[in-house]
Amino acid sequence: MPRYSFICEDCQFEFDLKCKFEELDSKKCPKCHSEKLERLYKSIGISMGDTQESKCST
Ligand SMILES: [Zn+2]
Repeated sequence: MPRYSFICEDCQFEFDLKCKFEELDSKKCPKCHSEKLERLYKSIGISMGDTQESKCST
């Protein structure tokens, strides 16, 4: 099953979910149960040219 990484926009909690793509819409933050989840695109073996994986988070 594919794995998706998310970050919660409300509490900034990062987590991974293993689920079907169709189920992603109904996912909530396991910590604060917010539905405002932002997908994180980590290295999943697919390259689309330039990688923008290093966001400064200070
Ligand atoms: Zn949250």
